[in-house]
Amino acid sequence: MILRVLGSSGAEFPGYSQPAFLLDGKILLDGGTIGSRLSEAEQWMIKNILITHSHLDHIKAIPFFADNIIVKHRKLSITLYGIKQTLSALTKHLLNDKLWPDFTKISSSIEPVIKLKNITTGNTFDVDGYAVSAYAVNHTVPAVGYIIKDKAGRSLLYTGDTGPTERIWNTPHKVHTVIVEVSFPNSMQTLAIKTGHLTANLLVRELDKIKHPPEKILITHPKPQYLGQIKKELKNIRNRKIELLRDGKVYEI
Ligand SMILES: [Zn+2]
Ligand SMILES: [Zn+2]
Repeated sequence: MILRVLGSSGAEFPGYSQPAFLLDGKILLDGGTIGSRLSEAEQWMIKNILITHSHLDHIKAIPFFADNIIVKHRKLSITLYGIKQTLSALTKHLLNDKLWPDFTKISSSIEPVIKLKNITTGNTFDVDGYAVSAYAVNHTVPAVGYIIKDKAGRSLLYTGDTGPTERIWNTPHKVHTVIVEVSFPNSMQTLAIKTGHLTANLLVRELDKIKHPPEKILITHPKPQYLGQIKKELKNIRNRKIELLRDGKVYEI
């Protein structure tokens, strides 16, 4: 599996984009960044987007992506996967013909530009040949993380935004790569817990919950304002291969 990081930052600044991860050029994990990082041809490759939760930093590029599709009259229909609370927040508050056109009703050909697929936690479902399961995590709004397995058996776990959590770590199968969030430095632990996020110290406790150690642990969602401190604190974690994701970089899973 090839993972291309379109964005992995916990806030937006020049050079720092918000979360979106492109798998094998065609499945998007979260939609915080799309058009500012991908050419038109690359955008047309995306057919499916898995959304972790409704927060704007994880979905904000999707309405503009839909606009790009309709403007070029592409015969493209994208499917958004999410739990029902996430999808209803999206249709009620964003794609509501007020903040942005309702692209679940506007069609580029026969099908609407955006199709919504309601998923439930704990089940495995197929997305373009990949086996995907969603697990509830601990955030300020209903949120899930995903485990995605390709046909070759390689797997990726992405937590999305979460504070200390349990269920997603209980997978009986080995996961090859984990993308987990660390938003704040250790000195801001109270705020991290209150807002459903992790620090480096909290991360150590989360990693101890994983039964089979992954090959790679990749960190997403750091606040760029505290990046230096967060980097230092991640480096101090012993006996773990931890790497801070970089926007624009490509990783092999
Ligand atoms: Zn969030
Ligand atoms: Zn976020």
